[in-house]
Amino acid sequence: MDIIKPKFLIWIFTPKCNLFCPHCYVAKFSLRELSLEEKLKVAKQAVECGIERINLTGGEVLIDEEVWKVIYYLLENNVSLSIFTNGVALTEQTIRKFQELNIYILLSVDGAKKQTYELIRGKNNWEKLILNMKRLKESEVSFSTVMAINSFNYKEVEDYIWLSREFGAKNACFIPVMLTGRANKQIVIDSKIVFEVLKTINKVAEDSKFQISLWCMPFAEAFVSSEFISISNCRNWKYEIEIDPLGNVMLCDILDITISNVISDGFCEAWRKLRDNPLYKYLSNPTFFIEPCKSCSIRDRCKGGCYARAGLFGNIYSPDPLCPTVNGF
Ligand code: SF4
Ligand code: SF4
Repeated sequence: MDIIKPKFLIWIFTPKCNLFCPHCYVAKFSLRELSLEEKLKVAKQAVECGIERINLTGGEVLIDEEVWKVIYYLLENNVSLSIFTNGVALTEQTIRKFQELNIYILLSVDGAKKQTYELIRGKNNWEKLILNMKRLKESEVSFSTVMAINSFNYKEVEDYIWLSREFGAKNACFIPVMLTGRANKQIVIDSKIVFEVLKTINKVAEDSKFQISLWCMPFAEAFVSSEFISISNCRNWKYEIEIDPLGNVMLCDILDITISNVISDGFCEAWRKLRDNPLYKYLSNPTFFIEPCKSCSIRDRCKGGCYARAGLFGNIYSPDPLCPTVNGF
């Protein structure tokens, strides 16, 4: 019997947003979401089921005042909270609340220059971002920056790392834009670019001694060596669960594969269905590899890389199409 309890919930709290970014994967969801009553029910059941940590993400979580009712409920029940925000809707008052309530912030910073940033996040938003980064620093709110690497901003990874350090972020995170939602082939990066980007990140991590986190790039281990870089791989997750704005439990929120639903099944049962799902089990521990994964030295940790990206390219069982090794680099 599976006795593992879920600990970390990634909750796409709302698909609604105040911006219209060209790379947004959440644009693939309809604008429907759970009611406040249903969200509070999810929060209650998540607590009862053992969840210790929740990341609320969107869309833009902070445009809806009702989110605070869920936030206060979770904090009263000792859940550690982080909020993913585009940073544009932040105010001095909200930032003060984050500091008082010890809420961790994940802040999208998709460019190190005004022109690049605004290509993605819209006109006149760079100054708002910089102002809010200053406020986060002055208020001593703990935060990470997150860059969704795309064809507009990949040449600014170095400046982005230094900018994150200058404004007091705990670390700088990177995730490649996925070919879903509003993203098109012009905005996603290819494996040649990712290969170059990883070399740059490795060098800047060493120079700056600043912590870097690489998301959804498990193959990166073969290309970076700095002790300041950490690499996560969802295939090795044991305690994580992701739900969409309607409470559907996703295999990965990038893919349209729903396993269960926390409203209709109840939170614990939805978790059990995820853990018992044959595809989920297989992808967490694949036993069949084709080349080049079959003879890859990091195969046992990388496990073939991002299956969602492979799925978007037509076959979830294929090696990660962004991996430089897969593409001969
Ligand atoms: S399947 Fe891919 S996109 Fe989804 S969490 Fe894992 S690495 Fe990231
Ligand atoms: S070849 Fe396969 S196992 Fe090796 S790094 Fe690339 S995706 Fe991962």
